[in-house]
Amino acid sequence: MQTLSSVGDVFALFAAGGSESYFGEPVTQLEHALQAAWFVEQHGGENTLIAAALLHDVGHLLHQEGEDIADRGVDTRHEEMGAEALAGHLPAAVLDPIHLHVAAKRYLCFADRNYFDRLSPASKQSLALQGGPMTATEAEAFLALPHAREAVTLRHADDAAKVAELAVPPLESYRPLVESIWR
Ligand code: FE
Repeated sequence: MQTLSSVGDVFALFAAGGSESYFGEPVTQLEHALQAAWFVEQHGGENTLIAAALLHDVGHLLHQEGEDIADRGVDTRHEEMGAEALAGHLPAAVLDPIHLHVAAKRYLCFADRNYFDRLSPASKQSLALQGGPMTATEAEAFLALPHAREAVTLRHADDAAKVAELAVPPLESYRPLVESIWR
């Protein structure tokens, strides 16, 4: 398990693996992260949620599995890997939404009939591996968790962050924000 001890370590991950394509979507890992952060920022999200959006898929950059990972029937549990690697350095308002962003997808598939239909094919495929839509009982338990609502907001940004060649602010523009909450 790789640990990340500085903002420099985290940003270096994007430099090393951020140009890989994002699981059957028309964006790279880095573009996906930057678009997610930008969408949260545009919707007036707090700095902690902007940071969560930027870093929500850091687990994918850590596991180094190929793009066909879901085709091989493997759930990497990247949401846990990412939150664990950042634990101790970022507040719960960042870590919880990262940890819960896959659960938020399962929740939305339960709560919103149209949500599943709008998911991309790759996201539908990974949903099956991630446990499928929540049951009513699971949804109730999910909503009771700290930062569950923030995780849902992050999830919407995540789902939208798959736009080919969208112009958004660069990674470096987020360094001061992440430094300001890193400890
Ligand atoms: Fe994502």
